Amino acid sequence: MTRIIVLRLGHRRERDKRISTHVGLVARAFGADEIVYSGEHDQKLLDSVNKVALEWGGSFKASYDPDWRKRIKEFKGTKVHLTMYGIPFQQKIKELKTSESLLVIVGGEKVPSEVYELADYNLAVTNQPHSEVAALGVFLHEYGNMKQFTGARKKVVPSARGKKIVEKKH
Ligand code: SAM
Repeated sequence: MTRIIVLRLGHRRERDKRISTHVGLVARAFGADEIVYSGEHDQKLLDSVNKVALEWGGSFKASYDPDWRKRIKEFKGTKVHLTMYGIPFQQKIKELKTSESLLVIVGGEKVPSEVYELADYNLAVTNQPHSEVAALGVFLHEYGNMKQFTGARKKVVPSARGKKIVEKKH
């Protein structure tokens, strides 16, 4: 298993609250261990992602770090920046699977050019513009680091129709 940390750059409290929440939820659901938000501090965002993690199990954590540059520079492991301008991720994913730790960086409105230099890999999920949520989901799904969500208070019982959830009392 690789330890995967997602770094979400440039969060804006008002404009990005929904999409940044989705980046966090996708990171968790598709096998990351942690998400670090940069940009504007947003306690509501951290609380809502951490609340989902608590209810639905596993040890995923959301936190905030204003210093994305230091965070990237000091990361001990492989740094992957997802961008439409990069190399198709399929060409590199196999060699990434040997990494013990992976920092997956996704941007927002505008990504500082320095990020392209600091990353070990600039990878594209198609060379078409779309979304950090989609790019992260596809990349992590292909990476295949899926987790067991142990200690969950809520668990879906897969059903052909309707919604079935079992809840643990606490
Ligand atoms: N021009 C930006 C770029 O560099 O990809 C698009 C900005 S997009 C609104 C926000 C983020 O979504 C980007 O920073 C990138 O992380 C991700 N993204 C969008 N399209 C992508 C693609 N085709 N491949 C990988 N990542 C993508």
